[in-house]
Amino acid sequence: MKVIVIIPAAGLGTRMAPMPSAMDAKGVSSKIKKPHPSKQFSDLAGTPILIHTLRKFAAADAVSEIWIALRENEMEGFRERLAKDAKDLLKKKIELVTGGEHRQQSVEHALNVLSAAAADIVLVHDAVRPLVTVEIIHDVIEAAKKYGAVIAALPAVDTVKQVERTAEGAIVKATIPRAGVVLAQTPQGFHYSVIKKAFDEAAADGFMGTDEASLVERSGHEVAVVMGSPRNIKITTPGDMELAEFYLRK
Ligand code: C5P
Repeated sequence: MKVIVIIPAAGLGTRMAPMPSAMDAKGVSSKIKKPHPSKQFSDLAGTPILIHTLRKFAAADAVSEIWIALRENEMEGFRERLAKDAKDLLKKKIELVTGGEHRQQSVEHALNVLSAAAADIVLVHDAVRPLVTVEIIHDVIEAAKKYGAVIAALPAVDTVKQVERTAEGAIVKATIPRAGVVLAQTPQGFHYSVIKKAFDEAAADGFMGTDEASLVERSGHEVAVVMGSPRNIKITTPGDMELAEFYLRK
């Protein structure tokens, strides 16, 4: 039984703009602006976020291969970076595939080219969650073996409201009892047969979800939940970078 990891890393990360790299020390825009790196390549304590994330999976003994979906124009640079600065990662089989327009398509491209047996485990993890732990990775793998489909998630601590968005802002429509709510993180893990069937059905129906589990749920397979971590944040805005740097220092 193999454990294969897919890391979608082909997003533009538009919510990260403006990046600090476009500012001088006083926070003033410099005249010659460097192009912003996409968020998975932003430096976190001197190392690109994606490399931090990869190191977590490379450190998990059970993982045998890692497939990374990248934007076409970032592939060559990333290949060079791996060979030059991150040779330690090459102890695992690492494959690059071209990402798609949406996250789901980036994962789909990897699923379509990797080869696996029905009972092999496929983990999907956001490139921009570098603070995942080896323990969470291990728990997701074990639960995926047992249940066939699992997500890492956190209980909701805030009260959850359903809203309707209007031109003037949001209006509360209902309060959803938070005991019945968890907040989904990644990794999400599946038997290959389960995730492949779900993706094939979603492609046939034109369904787009925001995570892999939503595709698996609609294909009729139960999805289990293991405990994630409040530190396993998805770096989305510049404020998240500060928080991630703080957690990394601890
Ligand atoms: O943009 P979002 O927050 O959904 O990104 C989640 C993950 O999906 C990121 O790691 C991002 O690089 C990836 N992604 C992708 N292909 C896209 C959009 C996002 O691989 N077209």
